[in-house]
Amino acid sequence: MGKTFKVISSLALSSCLLTAGLFNVDGNVSPAYAAEQAGQASIYIAPIDRAKFLAGSKFDFRVELNQLSAMPGSVSITVNGQDAEAFFGKKFVKTNTDKSQEFTIRDVSIDKAGTYEVAVKADGLSKTVKYEAVTADNSGKKAKNVILFIGDGMAFPDITISRIMSKGMTEGKYNGLMEMDKFDQRAVVTTSGMDSVVTDSANSASAYNTGHKSAVNGLGIYPDNTPDSLDDPKVETLAEMIKRTKGMSVGVVSTSEIEDATPAAVVSHTRRRSDKAEIAEMLYKVQPEVILGGGSAYFLPKSTAGSKRKDEKNLFDMFQQKGYDIAENATQLKQASGSKLLGLFHPADMSVYYDRSTNNKAELKSFTDQPNLWDMTQKAIDVLSKNDKGFFLMVEGASIDKQLHPLDWERAAYDTIEMDKAIGVAKRFAENNGDTLIVVTADHSHSVSIAGTYWEGDGKSGRDAVRTYAESEFPTYVDSNGDGFPDSPDVDRKLAVVFGAHPDYYEDYKFDSVPTSPTVNKDGKYVANPAKLADPNDPNRDRFLQTGSIPYNESQGVHTADDVPLMAYGPGASYFKGTMDNTDVFYGMANALGLHLVDVQSDGKNWIPLATFVNLMGGTVKYDAARREITMLVNTNTVTLNLNSGKATKNGKDVALDFKFDNGTTYVNSSTILDVLAK
Ligand SMILES: [Zn+2]
Repeated sequence: MGKTFKVISSLALSSCLLTAGLFNVDGNVSPAYAAEQAGQASIYIAPIDRAKFLAGSKFDFRVELNQLSAMPGSVSITVNGQDAEAFFGKKFVKTNTDKSQEFTIRDVSIDKAGTYEVAVKADGLSKTVKYEAVTADNSGKKAKNVILFIGDGMAFPDITISRIMSKGMTEGKYNGLMEMDKFDQRAVVTTSGMDSVVTDSANSASAYNTGHKSAVNGLGIYPDNTPDSLDDPKVETLAEMIKRTKGMSVGVVSTSEIEDATPAAVVSHTRRRSDKAEIAEMLYKVQPEVILGGGSAYFLPKSTAGSKRKDEKNLFDMFQQKGYDIAENATQLKQASGSKLLGLFHPADMSVYYDRSTNNKAELKSFTDQPNLWDMTQKAIDVLSKNDKGFFLMVEGASIDKQLHPLDWERAAYDTIEMDKAIGVAKRFAENNGDTLIVVTADHSHSVSIAGTYWEGDGKSGRDAVRTYAESEFPTYVDSNGDGFPDSPDVDRKLAVVFGAHPDYYEDYKFDSVPTSPTVNKDGKYVANPAKLADPNDPNRDRFLQTGSIPYNESQGVHTADDVPLMAYGPGASYFKGTMDNTDVFYGMANALGLHLVDVQSDGKNWIPLATFVNLMGGTVKYDAARREITMLVNTNTVTLNLNSGKATKNGKDVALDFKFDNGTTYVNSSTILDVLAK
């Protein structure tokens, strides 16, 4: 092993002039487990049917034959009719159990835009999937930086709730708009994963970061048939691509544990989002220049109190040795002045804005100096913008989701307003520089909705006091200090907010000053928690009961498959329109950056990957790692390239040949090598 010569194969040029449009589907997306449940022999191919690639992006290719009654006598795996090993320029690693056989090639890419058909035949079984490879759109003004805001679980109505509470309205017209409302370019995004109609935050954030679907709990992978969560076929993330090819900086900012699904998706590859200790190490591997959020428990060695690691690794020390400033509270965050920054402000998820801003000690415990999201965003921009090559920053309003789950829509609204103020910080940066694309979206929806307003002024209460249609007079939230947040969530006439997908719970339309779970577990079933009520001992409390709509094993509200909003601003924003699949958001960002991963050289020479050239010529290549010497056999000629000396020989004699090693790939100047071979 120790192979530094990276073989990237490609189709013969003649078959590469295919258009990069959409194509018809005849393959069938069928994850391995579905066949396993059916108990039938089946073929699973990862990446899946209709996968789309940015040309040159890295991925692992895997074919599984599952639920076999006997090993097949012959297996053929081709890409556009060419043997897959030849196409990818690498050999399969073959594995098997008594019922399955697997063929895996890691770390390959498709370098030419076009459509590709993968065909697998194994005795009586066969399956075909189609891929599309595209290059980034080169037209239009390019963005130097991309800032992606993800309001986790930020359903359309959550934005409306937040706008009403933040700005208020008069005679039906809002008194102001949110920052995100002011983005002209808008789209709706569909969110389903490859395995289910309702997504979780792992596979949806993964779609934004990689352009590929994944399964619930999956990050930067396609699921495979092994129990090991860390060996599944990987797909490269945007952060990895821009660090590998453009030297750009990366920032990850969230109010959750930094190892939680949405921030993890920027850098991680695992089938199981709960691999948080490993995800912390994946952050270390990619080394985003800015990491801000909660989740310090996974950065501390096992022997330190509060650690959630099972080893003695101290990631704070490891990052510090790489030159990172370390911040543990808002004061230290302000003081940080370096070019790399790791700030973790809570061992678990950071506290929510309402509790931070009201200094709610019962919730904060000893963590009374946590920064807010807009200060984290400003600091991240300050640090990342030091890189002339640009940056990608992901900012997550994590607790919008974490509060909608327990049906605490008011805390969710405060966190939405908090993220909106962070969007304002980014917008002012983008306006000053003119070179930054901002994308604001959610990863999935929740079943929250506004039924009207709630008013007890005529003696009614509970459900009877929900005012609908003409009776839904405007709510009376007040923002007397003009900070964008209502002074109090409990006012004379407030929003009547309801949920569609929820367990049994009590709803008295009162704010919970102490966050309270909607359910308690009774004999294995989640039933309504009386502590949600202002008077838990109310003898008539069942008039507040909301009968659940989901199974009794669900303790809180669940995600919904509803489309989510997307707003964009800046260079490349016009891409975001209409109804988009969540994987297309990735391409909007890649296009805005003009992200070219193949032949990134721009010195005017006609560079071609050596392996591509040799494939076209029908030759062979060997690499001697000890001597760093490539030997290729083409048309009975032996040509050597020494990566140490930069010298080339043909049949033992020195020749003038332009070649170079860049980003793991050896390139040759196609005209000089043709000259050399012709002589
Ligand atoms: Zn969630």
